[in-house]
Amino acid sequence: MSSCLLLITDTTLRLADHPALVRAGESGAPVIPLYVHDDDGGDDWTLGGAARWWLGRSLAVFQDALEGIGSRLIIRKGDAAAEVAALAAETGAETLFLTRSYDRHGRAREAALKRMAAAEGLTLKRYGGHLLFEPDTIATQKGDPYTVFSPFWRACLKEKPPKPPLDAPKALAGPVTWPDSLTVADLDLAPKPVDWAAGLRGTWTPGEGGALARADAFIVDSLASYKKHRDRPDLAHTSALSPHIRFGEISTRTLWHRAQEAMLRNESLEASAEHFTRELGWREFSYHLLYHFPDLADAPLRTNFTAFPWRQGQSAELTAWQKGRTGFPIIDAGMRQLWRTGWMHNRVRMIVASFLVKELLWHWRDGEAWFWDTLVDADPASNAASWQWAAGCGADAAPYFRIFNPILQGEKFDPEGAYVRTYVPELAHMPPEFIHKPWEAPALVLSAAGVTLGDTYPAPMVDRKQARDRALKAFEEVKTAQTA
Ligand SMILES: Cc1cc2nc3c(=O)[nH]c(=O)nc-3n(C[C@H](O)[C@H](O)[C@H](O)COP(=O)(O)OP(=O)(O)OC[C@H]3O[C@@H](n4cnc5c(N)ncnc54)[C@H](O)[C@@H]3O)c2cc1C
Repeated sequence: MSSCLLLITDTTLRLADHPALVRAGESGAPVIPLYVHDDDGGDDWTLGGAARWWLGRSLAVFQDALEGIGSRLIIRKGDAAAEVAALAAETGAETLFLTRSYDRHGRAREAALKRMAAAEGLTLKRYGGHLLFEPDTIATQKGDPYTVFSPFWRACLKEKPPKPPLDAPKALAGPVTWPDSLTVADLDLAPKPVDWAAGLRGTWTPGEGGALARADAFIVDSLASYKKHRDRPDLAHTSALSPHIRFGEISTRTLWHRAQEAMLRNESLEASAEHFTRELGWREFSYHLLYHFPDLADAPLRTNFTAFPWRQGQSAELTAWQKGRTGFPIIDAGMRQLWRTGWMHNRVRMIVASFLVKELLWHWRDGEAWFWDTLVDADPASNAASWQWAAGCGADAAPYFRIFNPILQGEKFDPEGAYVRTYVPELAHMPPEFIHKPWEAPALVLSAAGVTLGDTYPAPMVDRKQARDRALKAFEEVKTAQTA
């Protein structure tokens, strides 16, 4: 029997609940899993530094997992369609199994594969696996895409619930002779020029095993308090599964069913489990938007924002935000958490994004690009949709006049200042009442805490009242343009 190829991408790095992999195995043909690194050169979807680090680790773990079931991962570099065609010719493979993609880059790759398969006589079999609900099956009564989350999620919940996840195969038959492969090291995915990945290495365990362990720990230790504490960066009660989900190391279908099972075992978990599932719904919504508006990372969904007077480009102000030196402790803690660990708590992502686009009036695309480069979970759908939401120019966006107050947000969600103390050690000895506004502390308190504003810790980089007035004025102009 001739072999078949299984296309592995940076969103399918798992054995469990991987429909394309399971169905390829069931076909009875020897399976050749192939990862083609087609991320180099010029494409604006090139992975950021933190995601490249994660990918290197995750590919290595997946390679081991495949070897554990008698298979291998063949790694090639270049254009996916050309590499698949070459490998099919080399091995005599007649079928290609793959998982559906939704972003611009993945869809272009899929279209090229389709053309190549038609020309070469290769059968192409495509499966879902990245989402709970396919974006082209959820539509408003008029048949349009949803642009508001709540009705979108209600429509999803009216669909048949996601099927139970598929078990990981215990074995995957391969060809008698394996084709040549590059190694993961050949892909050169380590951060350069400086190795800033020490914090990433200390925080994360990329790969399916790490994902399953984190999911188990979350369900046992934190699901019960998820609804109550999910907005508290100091308590860390969210799952922190986002990079694992981003790289497809665990399916959201698995998480959906884990949450349902937990709820069935223990009724008191219902509210939290539903809330967690709803957050998975925000990811679905982001993909729904990306699928229907492929330029989500570039163009505002509200077109009147095209003329918005954003400030942009690299500057001392943008650098202060990126490096966590704005003088607003919750912002600085978030940006330093991002730099150190490649991740930031959702509440703090909202606060830092609001600060950049509103207080600094900086273009959301500069914020999106920094997150893209530094987040281990950098996701083409969630990152773009969330930045548009924060800037007020996206679907279902936060109204522009709602400007997050970093001091009140800090006091509410990090009441003792523990989160700030972790990431902004120069404020470690500030008392809770002043930790989110050190500039209001009496001189004696500052000196007892070893803080000299403008020296050991920056003075606030903007006058919030002036910044707020400037933002509201700019917004009024866009609003006028909208109604004119
Ligand atoms: C400006 C900004 C940029 C963001 N960029 C990304 C990104 O690049 N990648 C990314 O995965 N998330 C992004 N998010 C969404 C959210 O912050 C993260 O998904 C969440 O913080 C991940 O933490 P967790 O795994 O502990 O989430 P949990 O609360 O445990 O939620 C479980 C899962 O649901 C999904 N999820 C939760 N909240 C959201 C949300 N608001 N939007 C979309 N999916 C969500 C994630 O896959 C998450 O892992 C962004 C949010 C903001 C405000």
